[in-house]
Amino acid sequence: MELRHTGWRIKWVLRCVRGGLACLLLVTCAKAPKAQAELVLGTICSINLYEQGSPRVYEALFSRLHEIDRTMSATQGDTVLARINQNAGIHPVPVPPDLLEVVEAALRYAALSQGAFDPTIGPLVQCWAIGSENPRIPEALEIEARVSLIDWQDVVIDREAATVFLRRAGMALDLGAIAKGYAADEIVRMLQKTRIKRAIIDLGGNIVAYGTKPQGEPWRIGIQNPLNSRGTYLGILAVQHKSIVTSGVYERFAEIDGKRYHHILSTQDGYPVSNGLLAVTIIADRSLDADALSTTVFALGYAKGRALVESLDHAEVIFVFEDNQIRGTPVALAWFTLEDPHFSLIP
Ligand code: ADP
Ligand code: MG
Repeated sequence: MELRHTGWRIKWVLRCVRGGLACLLLVTCAKAPKAQAELVLGTICSINLYEQGSPRVYEALFSRLHEIDRTMSATQGDTVLARINQNAGIHPVPVPPDLLEVVEAALRYAALSQGAFDPTIGPLVQCWAIGSENPRIPEALEIEARVSLIDWQDVVIDREAATVFLRRAGMALDLGAIAKGYAADEIVRMLQKTRIKRAIIDLGGNIVAYGTKPQGEPWRIGIQNPLNSRGTYLGILAVQHKSIVTSGVYERFAEIDGKRYHHILSTQDGYPVSNGLLAVTIIADRSLDADALSTTVFALGYAKGRALVESLDHAEVIFVFEDNQIRGTPVALAWFTLEDPHFSLIP
C-alpha cells in the first residue's frame, strides 16, 4: 500500500515552471512541506507533517522509532526481544513497558484467533528466512520440529515483575506482524502532545492518516494493487483519523525454483498460508489493531476472518481474492473506490 497524496507537490512544481516562475519556485520549494523517510523497523518509514514539520520534531519521532526497533526487532542480535529468545526455557527476562504491552496485545490476538496468529512463530520464520538474503524451503521434518515449538500459551508474562518468559528451550518471539502498528500509534501519541494537526505516517505500508486535510476533507489513501508492481493502485480509501494496514502475498516473498513463497505462515502446517486470498486490508482506529488484525485475518481466511472482524467494534476489512474479486464489510466498502477494472466489487 502506498500513498497517493504526495503527487500534488510535483504537479504544483510543474505548474510553476510552466508559468515562468522558476526563481520563485526555488525559494518556495525550499519551504515546501516534505515527508521525511528513514530505514528503520526493517523497512522504509516515512512521516509527513506537512506545513507543521520541523527538524526537531522529525528527529524526536524517528529516534523513538529507532528505540522501538532496538527493543522489538527479531532480526537484530542485541534487542530485548532477542534476550527473551536466548533465555527461552532458562529464565524470565525483564522488559520495558512498551515491549510488555506489545507482547500482551499479541497474545490477545493469538487467543482471539485460536493461534492462527501466534507471536511465538519465531523459529518457523527463521527457518524459511523469507525477506532475508537466503530464503529457502525447509525440509518437511524441520518444519514439523519448528511448528512444535509454536504455542502462545507457553509465554509467561509477569506484570508485577515486568518480565517475559518462554517456557520451552528453542521457542522464539517474532513481533513482525504487530510492532509496526504499535510504533505508528506511538508516533500518534507523540503528535497529540504537540500542536501538529495533520500527518501521514507510513511505516512500510502500515499507514496512519492523522487528522484531516487542511479544508477538513478526508485523506485519500491508495491501496496497493497486489498483482502489479509497487506504486499502482487497486483503489482508494477516503478516511480520516484511521490506520490502514494491508497484509498480502506481495509484501514480502521469495521466489524459489520459479514458485513464490510469501511471508505469512500457517501455524498449523508451517507453510505459507494458501487460502485464495491475495491481500487483506484492515481499517481501524489504532494501528496496533490494524496491523495485528491484517495478519490474523489473512491467516484465518475469509469466513473466519470476516466473522472475527464483525465481532469487533473497532475494525473494518477489505479482502482481495486470487480470482480478482473484492469483498468487505459495508463500512469499509463505503470508504473505498475501485480504480482497477480488472477487479470486481462483490457487495
Ligand atoms: P508486513 O511485515 O508486511 O507488515 P504482516 O504485518 O502481515 O506484514 O506481518 C508478517 C510478519 O509477521 C512475517 O514477516 C513474520 O515475521 C510474522 N508472521 C508470519 N506469519 C505469522 C503468523 N501466523 N502469526 C504471527 N506472526 C506471523
Ligand atoms: Mg500485520
